[in-house]
Amino acid sequence: MAIYRDRRKMHPSLSKAFDSVQKSGFQVRYSGIYACIECGVEIALSAGRLVPERPNNPHAPGCPDGGWRLVVATSAPVERPATSESKDS
Ligand SMILES: [Zn+2]
Repeated sequence: MAIYRDRRKMHPSLSKAFDSVQKSGFQVRYSGIYACIECGVEIALSAGRLVPERPNNPHAPGCPDGGWRLVVATSAPVERPATSESKDS
């Protein structure tokens, strides 16, 4: 799980960029932290980079490598932050 210290530096988003799953070996569109949808391990990737394929990615032993989902974008993917989720910031 991604961890942060200062919540003022984070903004919630409803962007569909967080919904798509990238397979290993494919190019990512957004810079940020990606998590494996199976084992949860996280990797940081820059936009345009390829998701590393085995054995160069850090999956947990036995993980079937189902794909990677963006969990934290380092720049706004598309939409502005959702205001309903930022009330406690
Ligand atoms: Zn995995």
